[in-house]
Amino acid sequence: MKIILKPGREKSLLRRHPWIFASAVQSVDEPTSVSGSTVDLLSSEGKFLARAAFSPHSQIRARVWTFEDEPVGSGFLRRRIRTAIELRQSLKVAIHSNAFRLVNAESDGIPGLIVDRYDDVLVLQSLTAGSEFWKQTCADLLVEETGIRSIYERSDADVRDLEGLEPARGILRGAIPESQITIMENGLKFLVDIEHGHKTGFYLDQRDNRRRVGELAKDREVLNCFCYTGGFSLNALANGAKSVLSVDSSAAALGLLEKNLALNALPVERHTSLEGDIFQLLRKFRDENRSFDLIVLDPPKFAPTSAQADKASRAYKDINLLAFKLLRSGGILATFSCSGGVDTALFQKIVAAAALDAGAEASIIEHLSQAADHPVNLHFPEGAYLKGLICVKR
Ligand code: SAH
Repeated sequence: MKIILKPGREKSLLRRHPWIFASAVQSVDEPTSVSGSTVDLLSSEGKFLARAAFSPHSQIRARVWTFEDEPVGSGFLRRRIRTAIELRQSLKVAIHSNAFRLVNAESDGIPGLIVDRYDDVLVLQSLTAGSEFWKQTCADLLVEETGIRSIYERSDADVRDLEGLEPARGILRGAIPESQITIMENGLKFLVDIEHGHKTGFYLDQRDNRRRVGELAKDREVLNCFCYTGGFSLNALANGAKSVLSVDSSAAALGLLEKNLALNALPVERHTSLEGDIFQLLRKFRDENRSFDLIVLDPPKFAPTSAQADKASRAYKDINLLAFKLLRSGGILATFSCSGGVDTALFQKIVAAAALDAGAEASIIEHLSQAADHPVNLHFPEGAYLKGLICVKR
């Protein structure tokens, strides 16, 4: 099967970007081919550029497997999976944690495939036509290459819709006796609900940032907004925070947070959980003249793509402005965005505008991003979705 590109539209491929948009396609020789089947991408002059997965329903019509003229199949995927595993071994992340990302989609050369390891279970997410086509092969290869026998599938993300794929979840390989798995991270235990939790169960990308923010929390009164199952809260308590108030709108997440507190020998009397909407709660706190020494803002993805950037910018500005108001002088704001549609520069501008409108003077003391087990292929800047700023208010 072949896709011929419009004249000049091979440029992004020559820069090794792995996506071909429908608007760049001149012709497809077998347009009724099965979703996910392998296709050669050719320039308008007929020159071979790359081999890719065909996605007939998505605006991203093809995702590159390889820029070489090599067969795509089990042997190819095994090499990619092995390389991904070797990278994690070289990072030594496994010494500190039994939970990490093993395969990070495009950035590990397997577009659409996410694999997270939680102790002795793998959680697999297939997000694109190509990863779906090879899902069973990848599941077998993962078992062979990791020696882990149990794989749970969490292919229930909304983006599958764009690829014309139905949501899918359930056991893919082996047996999963319990949906809640205990992981170890930064010396703390967390329960991860792989069946009902967000994403594959845990926000592994924030591991290093939870440790860093924890280190800054000593003797501080901490407000952890969008706390989920308590990642930042537990790190803060473990590092001697004076108090921690954890807020989330999800009762289920807060339920797990309470269990996580109990799992670790932490001063629980210094911790309070609150179920509520952050946008309302920060206003209420402002009206009550409450103040804190450290505020964490780690909201959900407000802008999955740049189409939602304006609306998302307003939401980010709103919560950051309120947070600056609630911070005492010398207080720290750890603020994050995991929106693909808001890049680092824009995020910094939004936070600056928020400080200005809050009447706060603040400086950035650290720039944060996703942990190293979530690598970003240099030719795929979209992979760098998580950005964080640690600011100190003067
Ligand atoms: N910081 C967490 C991850 C946060 S994920 C960690 O380190 O694990 C984002 C969280 O925001 C989710 O738990 C979700 O339930 C919560 N959330 C989404 N919208 C919210 C809102 N308006 N108010 C409060 N919580 C919200």
